[in-house]
Amino acid sequence: MKVEKILPFTRNLLSKAVKNGDFVVDATVGNGYDTLFLAELVGESGRVFGFDVQEQAILATQERLKQHGFLDRVSIFHTGHEILGKMIPAEYHGRITGAVFNLGYLPKSDKSIFTRPETTLAAIEQMFSIMAPEGIIVLVIYHGFPEGAVERDALLSYCQQIDQKTAHVLKYQFINQQNNPPFIIAIEKI
Ligand code: SAM
Repeated sequence: MKVEKILPFTRNLLSKAVKNGDFVVDATVGNGYDTLFLAELVGESGRVFGFDVQEQAILATQERLKQHGFLDRVSIFHTGHEILGKMIPAEYHGRITGAVFNLGYLPKSDKSIFTRPETTLAAIEQMFSIMAPEGIIVLVIYHGFPEGAVERDALLSYCQQIDQKTAHVLKYQFINQQNNPPFIIAIEKI
């Protein structure tokens, strides 16, 4: 398959925006796969700010980072991303070059804990305001369960009305696949 799948497409976008020494955000650390990818991308002199509401996710992520020797370049907050603007120190505001929101629930875990439109939208707004110009926010949207479909609709209607003078907003989606596979919305700040 030559067309990029969702995960490689996400990582490619982030790789284009983020370079060694940069500051980035993983808004939903989950099992830490994206956090690890970002930690590698920013290198020793960069920093990743991570968020999750579940202790289990924080612990899994810390363990994964530790195994790779990357713990010291990541700050993980055990709190919702809806207060990320307050949690990320002011010195980094305006300097974040990449962010990923891998939405929905943690696989093989408590499916009653999932991202919700109000908090996700609040986080995206804060994230956008602290991004550097040309920074990219990637939203990976899981809409194969009822609440996920509600979040999808809220995000699409919010993102479609973002002023084109302030951001390039992209949707990347396989439109002939069964069972509502995840898709991407990417927001590049101008
Ligand atoms: N990026 C993760 C990875 O690489 O393994 C997968 C993330 S998983 C699809 C979604 C995560 O969002 C869950 O771990 C869940 O606890 C978390 N979550 C739900 N609501 C949240 C919120 N308000 N703020 C931050 N994380 C939240």
